[in-house]
Amino acid sequence: MSQSQSAIEQLSGRPLTTLSEDEQMFRASVREFAEGEIRARVEEMDEHQKLDPAIIKHCFDLGLMSIETPEEFGGAGGTFFTAILAVEELSRVDASVGVLVDVQNTLVNNAFIRWGTEEQKKKYLGKLALGSVGAYALSEPSSGSDAFAMQTRAVDKGDHYLINGRKLWITNGIEAEIFVLFANANPEAGYKGITAFIIEKGFEGFSIGKKENKLGIRASSTVELILEDCKVPKENVLGEVGKGYKISIETLNEGRIGIGAQMIGIATGALECALKYTGERQQFGKAINQFQGVQFQLAEMATELEAARLLVYNAARMKDAGVNFVKEAAMAKLYSSRVAERVTSKAIEMYGGYGYVKDYPVEKYWRDSKIGAIYEGTSNMQLQTIAKLIIGGK
Ligand SMILES: Cc1cc2nc3c(=O)[nH]c(=O)nc-3n(C[C@H](O)[C@H](O)[C@H](O)COP(=O)(O)OP(=O)(O)OC[C@H]3O[C@@H](n4cnc5c(N)ncnc54)[C@H](O)[C@@H]3O)c2cc1C
Repeated sequence: MSQSQSAIEQLSGRPLTTLSEDEQMFRASVREFAEGEIRARVEEMDEHQKLDPAIIKHCFDLGLMSIETPEEFGGAGGTFFTAILAVEELSRVDASVGVLVDVQNTLVNNAFIRWGTEEQKKKYLGKLALGSVGAYALSEPSSGSDAFAMQTRAVDKGDHYLINGRKLWITNGIEAEIFVLFANANPEAGYKGITAFIIEKGFEGFSIGKKENKLGIRASSTVELILEDCKVPKENVLGEVGKGYKISIETLNEGRIGIGAQMIGIATGALECALKYTGERQQFGKAINQFQGVQFQLAEMATELEAARLLVYNAARMKDAGVNFVKEAAMAKLYSSRVAERVTSKAIEMYGGYGYVKDYPVEKYWRDSKIGAIYEGTSNMQLQTIAKLIIGGK
């Protein structure tokens, strides 16, 4: 029996949302951290557009920044599903902390684990586990959905490459010390020239540009990266030259499930607020959750959230089982981002006027939800992937 078959058989019979003992313990510890350390700082971090460094340090100390990294490189050697649970739990309290952990695990560490040489793993995975934040730089001012049309160029100079170009919208950019950055090393070959490079913050010719002032996930930094004759040693090519397109496609396939987890975390946080508030708020002489109109809306929100969670958990467990999950990951991100927008919007309405002001938490959940339809492939791009896979052809 193949490894993936036996993994599937072990899973069969267990409801998707039923967690193993280890998973339950892990989730409880992340929840304790989120409630105990993050909750009280959410508003201030959103207002000041900055993650509290103490929170980032705590994420490292708890092993949340290296969940899947093998133990020999300083990580926890956990499953992808555990990483998904962490992103969900953190996002239930603050989606900015959720995306910090998500990018580190599902994109950056993942790229090193899958494509790094032994030396690169030793050098970088350890740092990424112990205290260095990572970032993932694909998008550019004129290439987002059409990512492979990137203009950033890498020129071979013998023992090093010189990289020139600009990257836009890079999450964790302010905090990051290690960047997985994509540049085209052979433009004549089209997308087959795209290559992944490991860039350290201190490299000559590398600098951070404008920081974005955003609608949501405001505490998460989003920046422009500037590369002006940035000198990158040859040993910092990640994977093979010309295989960057494959690395980006495959890391983002996993990353999307992480964004799905962020979205169900946001929706969970908002639904919990709505359930509590509607039980307390009195109108017409009773709690507003005594009106069927309100009850039915709460029931719709809970049902949609459950469906989204099933999609996310299923895609994550498929990934761990080693079966193809590309369609399911796209569906999970597409659907959960829509559900997060709907649930958070409804939560605001249930708070009435109080939902519209910053004294209450629900307006932030709604602002934070919007990014789910945009990054790691817009909703149209997810639909395109799903359509291609169900219809067939190129
Ligand atoms: C807060 C934030 C954080 C981000 N973090 C990162 C990061 O860490 N690393 C990184 O590399 N990038 C990051 N991004 C970039 C993000 O992935 C892109 O913004 C996204 O892929 C969309 O690209 P675009 O903004 O250029 O929009 P465009 O590609 O210009 O799309 C604009 C609209 O056109 C639609 N569209 C485009 N092409 C088609 C088509 N063929 N068919 C149908 N519709 C189409 C899109 O769906 C969208 O609605 C981040 C973005 C934001 C806002």
